[in-house]
Amino acid sequence: MKTRAAIFHAVGEPFEVAELDVADPGPDDVVVRMAAVGICGTDLHQVKGEFQRPTPIVLGHEGSGVVEAVGDDVTLVAPGDEVVLSWAPSCGACADCRAGRPARCVALNRAIAAATLPDGTTGLSRDGETVYRATATGCLAEHVVVSERVALPTGGAIPLLEAALLGCAALTGVGAVLFAARVQPGATVVVVGAGGVGQFVVQGCRIAGAETVVVADPVAARREQAVQLGATHAVHPDELRETVKRVAPDGADVAFDAVGDPETTLVALRNAGSGSTTMIVGLPAAGRRLDLDPIELIRKEKWLAGTLYGSADPATALPVLIEHVREGRLELASMLGPVYSLEDVNDAIEASLAGAPGRVLVVP
Ligand SMILES: [Zn+2]
Ligand SMILES: [Zn+2]
Repeated sequence: MKTRAAIFHAVGEPFEVAELDVADPGPDDVVVRMAAVGICGTDLHQVKGEFQRPTPIVLGHEGSGVVEAVGDDVTLVAPGDEVVLSWAPSCGACADCRAGRPARCVALNRAIAAATLPDGTTGLSRDGETVYRATATGCLAEHVVVSERVALPTGGAIPLLEAALLGCAALTGVGAVLFAARVQPGATVVVVGAGGVGQFVVQGCRIAGAETVVVADPVAARREQAVQLGATHAVHPDELRETVKRVAPDGADVAFDAVGDPETTLVALRNAGSGSTTMIVGLPAAGRRLDLDPIELIRKEKWLAGTLYGSADPATALPVLIEHVREGRLELASMLGPVYSLEDVNDAIEASLAGAPGRVLVVP
């Protein structure tokens, strides 16, 4: 079969929208007609040259769609099912996979670095030449072929445009709060960065019953959005220290770095108090290093940890999130940013790079 897709060639070059050859689906595969694809910070890392992955490559790993066809052995979904893609088509057999943490799977992470699927193939080509797939997904396309294990049904409960956000930003951000940091009712929290993931961290804190949520972001529109989503304070990063001193003199119980740069990680850590946990949620550019005096951790018994994809199995975490959406606790509609067609993918990338509040979406 064939599909139209947005192809990234090199830093500084516009995406090309063209038709690709797609390998026939295997017995465990499903064909998904993509409905919406969110532009994530991980995609932007490649666009900015902060990740080196083989090209030409199809970016996009946060998406929703409708199952169009299924392989002979598929049992989990059927044609017509609305699905959210998980970007963790892991091996299913290693210790991490068996522990319910497919995103940690070594085979998956090798595949992500090589811009292939875990079996080393991509199933995509153009004039006989391999086209790569970002984050073991590559869904900035009209159709994708994925393993049935990563096409997670929504039960039709959520509009597809909104459902796309569940695939990466929501699982990552809400999961970081509920499944990784396990924020407690009444907690004081600092969130550094109010982009797509950061806003979901804020929502996760509200769902968890945090009492004080201080958000720092340089973009005013993002700060306003954070307040609407449950932040009690939203300030410019320059004002964070003063604000935390005032509202939480002992420092936060939990701090999240939703940006993932070493600089922002240190900001989060410094604003966390004794016995606190600081979680790195965002991904740093390749090669960045954290410069840290360990005494800062020891003297105040601080914990510093990373969380990947919400520290849960997307197949079990997604139904939890869908339940929060259905009960009105998790907002998706207000998280949507500007929407672009596949042909206008370059405008979508530009809007995302500019820091548009809300998730920038492409509707292939
Ligand atoms: Zn992502
Ligand atoms: Zn594995």
